[in-house]
Amino acid sequence: MITIVGAGLGGLTLARVLHLHNIPVTVYEGDASAAARTQGGQLDIHEQNGQLALEAAGLLEEFRKHIHEGGEAMRILGPDGSTLFDEPDDGSGHRPEILRGDLRQILIDSLPEGTISWGHKVTAITPVGAGRHELTFADGTTATTELLVGADGAWSRVRPLLSDATPQYVGTSFVETYLYDADERHAASAKAVGTGAMMATVPGKGIQAHREANGVLHTYVSLTRPQEWFDAAPITAARVAAEFEGWAPELTALITDGETPPVLRPLHTLPTEHRWERVPGVTLLGDAAHLQVPNGEGANLAMYDGAELGRAIAAYPGDIEAALTQYEAGLFPRSAAESAEAARDFERFFGPDTPQSVLELFKSA
Ligand SMILES: Cc1cc2nc3c(=O)[nH]c(=O)nc-3n(C[C@H](O)[C@H](O)[C@H](O)COP(=O)(O)OP(=O)(O)OC[C@H]3O[C@@H](n4cnc5c(N)ncnc54)[C@H](O)[C@@H]3O)c2cc1C
Repeated sequence: MITIVGAGLGGLTLARVLHLHNIPVTVYEGDASAAARTQGGQLDIHEQNGQLALEAAGLLEEFRKHIHEGGEAMRILGPDGSTLFDEPDDGSGHRPEILRGDLRQILIDSLPEGTISWGHKVTAITPVGAGRHELTFADGTTATTELLVGADGAWSRVRPLLSDATPQYVGTSFVETYLYDADERHAASAKAVGTGAMMATVPGKGIQAHREANGVLHTYVSLTRPQEWFDAAPITAARVAAEFEGWAPELTALITDGETPPVLRPLHTLPTEHRWERVPGVTLLGDAAHLQVPNGEGANLAMYDGAELGRAIAAYPGDIEAALTQYEAGLFPRSAAESAEAARDFERFFGPDTPQSVLELFKSA
């Protein structure tokens, strides 16, 4: 039996690919159910990784039914609301968008009933010899496995079996807000955001928003501040908006009109070259393996890892170590290159030369 810890997009893609190969698998997930947490946010699913993973999972057609049309437009505004760059959706569909919750549900529905053990938060893992591991769950129960896959995200419980690396704060945090029924109730902000993505940045701060299905404006405010700044007082809309004094009201309204409490998302990364020596019976995928700054690739990469690992396991029946060796030989260079690229993108978006560096990026694309 193969055991996956974490029913995020990466773990679920792996489970699905294994299922297609008739390989028994169990997914242990800490959340009590699929609906336990809102899976906010819309994801671009890319041709070179996320879509390939969905193809391997036999779910490309199902995915296409849930695409949010028109979401590929991109606009860059100045702090005064002036337009610096405006590119409509070209209709090419290279980066179709889907709500994360919809994508996760497609994967969940594609697995046989009982594959996912919800409400099973792993609290300890003990090697018991010959590549086997015993998992202990928060409720005190245990399970033993011959292949353990850590798909349990940034703060992975499985990762310490392989590596001493821990995520480090990158110096920038996002604050997330949502506006609903935007065209009717927040018309000026809806117009500023347009039909796809909008960003307005200066060194040290920015407002990025995205129109999602059903008239939702989803905003990430970026603030480059030390951790202590965020710890010093509660993160309220007023406190965040005060950092944008003098900015166009249709931009600051994305913060002050937020209809959900602002959610702080401090950004952490693992080292760009994160890798490990082969340890029998255990590996990682997705954020657990290569946590990087957000550049629209993380979920795509997690799914791609899941598909690759599933294929490798299927290619070496009865030889787990050969499968893991092959998977990791692809994983390490791929992740290092992607993490370096993400760091470069992040610098362009949020570094000292923004928004000029972003304009150059989009104008040259
Ligand atoms: C602000 C922000 C914006 C982003 N935007 C995008 C984007 O637009 N596009 C994109 O591609 N990527 C984006 N990403 C990155 C993306 O969210 C991640 O890379 C992706 O979710 C990683 O998937 P995963 O399956 O590896 O892990 P996760 O999605 O983190 O899933 C891990 C799962 O493991 C479970 N779990 C954790 N610990 C345990 C435990 N001990 N026991 C049992 N279960 C456990 C969790 O509950 C969770 O369900 C963004 C990230 C951030 C921070």
